[in-house]
Amino acid sequence: MQISVVIPLFNEEESLPELYQWITQVMNQRSFSYEILFVDDGSKDLSWKKIQEISAKDSHIKAIRFLKNYGKSQALNAGFAKIQGDVVITMDADLQDSPEEIPELYQMITQEGYDLVSGWKKKRYDHILTKNLPSKLFNWAARKVSGLTLHDFNCGLKAYRKEVVKNIDVRGEMHRYIPVLAKSAGYEKITEKVVQHQARKYGKTKFGVERFINGFLDLLTIGFLSKFGKRPMHLFGALGVLMFFIGFCFAFYLGIDKLFINPYNRLITNRPEFFIALSTMIIGTQFFLTGFLAELILRSRDPEPRYHIKESIN
Ligand code: UDP
Ligand code: MG
Repeated sequence: MQISVVIPLFNEEESLPELYQWITQVMNQRSFSYEILFVDDGSKDLSWKKIQEISAKDSHIKAIRFLKNYGKSQALNAGFAKIQGDVVITMDADLQDSPEEIPELYQMITQEGYDLVSGWKKKRYDHILTKNLPSKLFNWAARKVSGLTLHDFNCGLKAYRKEVVKNIDVRGEMHRYIPVLAKSAGYEKITEKVVQHQARKYGKTKFGVERFINGFLDLLTIGFLSKFGKRPMHLFGALGVLMFFIGFCFAFYLGIDKLFINPYNRLITNRPEFFIALSTMIIGTQFFLTGFLAELILRSRDPEPRYHIKESIN
């Protein structure tokens, strides 16, 4: 099978038939062998019924239905586990992404050898204040953290080599940063393609203002995880030792001063150096212990080393 299209959806009943028609038309024009996998993320409207109707008359359709709404990341994760095609295309269900892009995306993965091609909504049809400006800021921060030079990390329309989606773990709300996940999993041939974008035709966006807070926190997590996720002691241990050392220097100085230089000077506890020494030594110890606990948790929770073998002989 050449292409798997994965479509996460939550309450998108109006868009589904149109989206299905459009994708099918593109696929048939190029006579691709394909599957379309709808992942219904706990819709409360008639989305699942629409999917049942579509799948009854077309064997290219596969679908998963969640018991409740778990979020777009989980929907993608479930889809990625099930797909079979060599190239995986993800797209939103709301008709904002155009299926016309699929052939060229497919081409870029198979011919040009990319691991991941991310859509870039260069001309966006979303609200300027609630979406476009904040997302510029997001993308800037994500570029800084990841070292990737993409303009639009969170575009729903992306293409992947199958191997990539099988080896990344999209959790929480990390769908915003899939290129970063892919890069830290070792897939570095990542690029972007300018894609058409439309205003939402039906329904409304499923992500509110909390996306900004969550998005930035997730970015911190991902930056931390991709650097120190497998070796937390290297961060916390280093910070801890550094803090402790600073505190120790102050304490040492206070001790020498009190014992040998100015024994009759004011009380040690009245001096700012005392409080600096005290707090940095305590915080340093805390950092160190945090690192140590994190290492212990890693070893007990994740007994198998996480690596992905690219090839092997015999
Ligand atoms: N979506 C989902 N689960 C959710 C929220 C959204 O599967 O909990 C789907 C949604 O149906 C759509 C895609 O994720 O297909 C992108 O959502 P939306 O269009 O609301 O995001 P926006 O384009 O506003 O960033
Ligand atoms: Mg949308």
